[in-house]
Amino acid sequence: MAELWQLSISEALDKLARREISAADLTRAHLDRIEAVEGRVRSFVTVTDQDAMREAEQIDRMRGEGEALGPLAGIPLALKDVLCTKGVRTTCSSRMLEHFVPPYDATVVSRLRQAGAIAVGKTNMDEFAMGSSTENSAFFPTRNPWDLDRVPGGSSGGSAAAVAVGEAMGSLGSDTGGSVRQPGALTNTVALKPTYGRVSRFGLIAFASSLDQIGPFARSARDAAHLMNVIAGYDRLDSTSVNRPTPDYLAALTGDVKGLRIGVPKEYFVEGVEPGVKQVVDEAIKTFEGLGAEIGEVSLPHTRYGVAAYYIIAPAECSANLARYDGVKYGFSARDGVQDLVQTTATTRAKGFGPEVKRRIMLGTYALSAGYYDAYYLKAEKVRTLIKRDFDKAFEQFDVLIGPTSPTVAFKLNEKLSDPYAMYLNDVFTIPVNLAGNCAISIPGGFSDGLPVGLQLIGPSFGEETLLRASDAFEHATDFHTRWPALPQQKRPPRARK
Ligand code: GLN
Repeated sequence: MAELWQLSISEALDKLARREISAADLTRAHLDRIEAVEGRVRSFVTVTDQDAMREAEQIDRMRGEGEALGPLAGIPLALKDVLCTKGVRTTCSSRMLEHFVPPYDATVVSRLRQAGAIAVGKTNMDEFAMGSSTENSAFFPTRNPWDLDRVPGGSSGGSAAAVAVGEAMGSLGSDTGGSVRQPGALTNTVALKPTYGRVSRFGLIAFASSLDQIGPFARSARDAAHLMNVIAGYDRLDSTSVNRPTPDYLAALTGDVKGLRIGVPKEYFVEGVEPGVKQVVDEAIKTFEGLGAEIGEVSLPHTRYGVAAYYIIAPAECSANLARYDGVKYGFSARDGVQDLVQTTATTRAKGFGPEVKRRIMLGTYALSAGYYDAYYLKAEKVRTLIKRDFDKAFEQFDVLIGPTSPTVAFKLNEKLSDPYAMYLNDVFTIPVNLAGNCAISIPGGFSDGLPVGLQLIGPSFGEETLLRASDAFEHATDFHTRWPALPQQKRPPRARK
């Protein structure tokens, strides 16, 4: 029999409703799993075991008393440490916020709580969500459960690894240039970046505000639909959230993709894509064809300019957003031996930020400075428009586009750390979607030499239902999403739980 931590959210909800298991059993099973594997994987910055057990027992009590329960009652989830949680420290994996305890919950967090979900902890990430490997965490790197010598991707690496290895049934991450989809691809999880404005970002610590979006990780499209049903929707606290009815994402899962028009962008199969990745995507296209989808070639000619435009726009916005960490308002403050306000700010930022965050702030400040604004920032915004037009044109002909999420499988720890440009190039297929604002999902597409390959399905704005429907249909025809990483044996005893 499967262990409790191996259940899908759908299965667990059934068992909970039939009272075959309790929320306390389910939560305990996940906390035990965390204790068993954390020494090797290190997905979490903070494990909230006591709160989780208390909340689970509360759900069980309410069920016992016949009270109405939310749609995710008793489901243990993990939250990227970029999401504000009331009373629970929220670090962004940065020294700057190492001891920051928010006085409020992000809207997605309060929605999950209202739905009865249980937060087991806050997950590790690249500092302020800048990176593709989770190695930029100021605390420690997270490891890929499929190969502990490799990265889980990033920046939401902890949220991806936690779901991949059964420490949580689902999780949330944030995706500014691929940070949900790329770690999803590298860890064999389902990872959705919703349309800009679909999910409220109130309480998401900002990186690049015109690109940031919160999205779920899960082990199936159905489970991702469960999470989307709770987190999606208008929020008056986020002026960029779109006031438009939220569909029932579960109802979208008809299992049928007959006649679905799937476009294959030729720019997504270029040099730099590993042969093993290409092979998996080619197979997946055949699978969709076998399911009755109509496949055709399409061109997204400005794809190759995406990374360059992103690395102007994202740093420009980050340099403005991160100006608030001045040693006065929030978090870390370097005051010892410091004479005045200017020196406080300078020393705080010099000590509180890691090298990648500093690189981005400097790039952004430079790109926005007088005389360079037109040459860099304005030009990048024009490229952004061209990229959006590529997608608009493609979606006149196709319902969904298909390609690899990442050009490579999970790379080794330290492999790209000293070469930021090589790291940036890993996002070549995910970045255009953030620039255009539409939606995309990464799903388990197959394996190359034992490592997971993510398949990316890209949809038009508010096309999440189609993405989830196509993903669910693909899962019916394949078993990749059901596979678990075989973690090698523990090298040292687990740490005692705090
Ligand atoms: N890897 C990209 C970056 O470093 C994307 C990060 C993200 O989506 N948060 O900017």
